[in-house]
Amino acid sequence: MDYNLILKQIQSEFADTPISGRVASYIPELAKVPPDKFGMHLLDCKGRHYCFGDSNERFSIQSISKVFSLALAMKAIGDELWNRVDVEPSGVPFNSLSQLENEAGIPRNPFINAGALVVADVLVSNFSNPKGALLTFIHEITGDDSIDFDPVVAASEAQEGYRNRALVNYMKSFGNIENKAADVLDLYFHQCAIEMSCKDLAQAFILFSNQGKLLETEREILTSVQVKRINALMQTCGFYDEAGEFTFKVGLPGKSGVGGGIVALHPQHYAVAVWSPPLNPNGNSALGMDVLERLTQLTGLSIF
Ligand code: GLN
Repeated sequence: MDYNLILKQIQSEFADTPISGRVASYIPELAKVPPDKFGMHLLDCKGRHYCFGDSNERFSIQSISKVFSLALAMKAIGDELWNRVDVEPSGVPFNSLSQLENEAGIPRNPFINAGALVVADVLVSNFSNPKGALLTFIHEITGDDSIDFDPVVAASEAQEGYRNRALVNYMKSFGNIENKAADVLDLYFHQCAIEMSCKDLAQAFILFSNQGKLLETEREILTSVQVKRINALMQTCGFYDEAGEFTFKVGLPGKSGVGGGIVALHPQHYAVAVWSPPLNPNGNSALGMDVLERLTQLTGLSIF
């Protein structure tokens, strides 16, 4: 597959696309990011890199971090996790409280905010320094120790995080949060504020295309069953109430964040990340969705 040619074609086709969507503003620091940032990076399973635009610039990964925290929690407590968080698509916005009432405080899946907060609670219970453990995990899978939180973004979200505070307290009332709400939120706000580039994200997510093994050393980080489950969750729940649309258009497992990043992967082929900050009404990068649809059109391949 000539990914070089395909990315060149995508870059030229989308170069003059008028900006649609709006940069997230409910986290004040994110509102400052220039809307015209645009980058893409693809890493194939043979270790070859292809990229264009702002692919090396780090941005706030936001909900993409939920994949890393889930992987770490699965390694820490195994199947016990599924007693506290379900694996069904939610069909409601990422920060919705409504289903929790009828479902006794058990979130639909680990990628909506409620589910990610339960996962954060698991990490707080199982690691003496959960923020450090999460960063160490990301450093291990990317081979890059310079990846870090942006404390200004974390503080900005903490200041305005009324809904996440409500979610964690509501779940605590059902007995599904073990730790102090403040400790769970501190980890959650920091994980969302991790800064990575499209290149870093492709480097991290190649693990999920390579059956849980690091590309360079073939060292196993996750079992093939764990990877199957994480990819299945990305496919069915990675885009909130637009997971069906992403599957329909792109046909790959992936995960988005309100920082405008989307990462997707084709098992045994590649991992790819796109960054464009303006979001569609469902909180997913508007241009990112279109670019990834074009990618699987041009390759002629998806998982389906
Ligand atoms: N930090 C954001 C929040 O909790 C993450 C949401 C997202 O990226 N969809 O609202």
